[in-house]
Amino acid sequence: MTQARSLIDEGGKRTDGRTANELRDINIKVGVVKNADGSALIEFGKNKIVVGVYGPREVHPKHMAQTDRCILRCRYHMTPFSTDTRKNPAPSRREVEISKVIRESLEPALMLEDYPRATIDVYIEVLQADGGSRCAGITAASVALADAGINMRDIVSACAAGKVDEKIVLDINDTEDKEGGADMPVAFMPNLKQITLLQLDGRLDKDQFNACLKEAISGCERVYEIQRASLMQKYFGNEPELKNGN
Ligand code: ADP
Repeated sequence: MTQARSLIDEGGKRTDGRTANELRDINIKVGVVKNADGSALIEFGKNKIVVGVYGPREVHPKHMAQTDRCILRCRYHMTPFSTDTRKNPAPSRREVEISKVIRESLEPALMLEDYPRATIDVYIEVLQADGGSRCAGITAASVALADAGINMRDIVSACAAGKVDEKIVLDINDTEDKEGGADMPVAFMPNLKQITLLQLDGRLDKDQFNACLKEAISGCERVYEIQRASLMQKYFGNEPELKNGN
């Protein structure tokens, strides 16, 4: 990816007015889908994503069942009206890949061995996309899994960092994703301090890579506080005094 125009102005502001290490506004609402066992709606900047979790429940088709653990199935899907041009509702290669990486990023946090022969299905519906939708999807999915009462080792928090104008910036938006130099989505278990997803689109040298990863993890830690507050809000009715850390 080579950049055609500058995306950071002389005052250090990005295309959406943020500074380099500023997150977009994040809002998570837990328990928004009555028919799901657990659910969450996340607004991550202009991303709007709803997640429904069903299970643990019986597996269909039955031959997919595992005798020693539960299977996790994730579907990431973008609605036709989620982008500026109509998106074909049929699953694209990108959505199939993102569904797989989301499943892999959530699995380490779940005690799947507690529910042998069962399945947990996670549906991630992107209503509006603005870059970073996989991270927002993972973040909302792990809150929805907690809302469903699934036994978990930790929550999974996700946030991307990237390179714009040769600078490392936190939480890149759609324009920065398309026109910037690199995009690194990261999912992280904040209590176990383990990374469950690390992707990189673009080029970074070793120092940039380390700085980008550090920035993304600090973003995940801030995302975690918002996840925690949203669950506290639903189950204890009190929202601790927390903002998105900016
Ligand atoms: P992520 O959303 O996780 O950053 P990508 O880097 O693949 O995933 O996509 C970046 C952004 O590109 C998306 O958030 C969305 O705003 C936009 N986008 C993705 N697919 C399409 C599409 N089919 N049509 C228009 N815009 C799209």
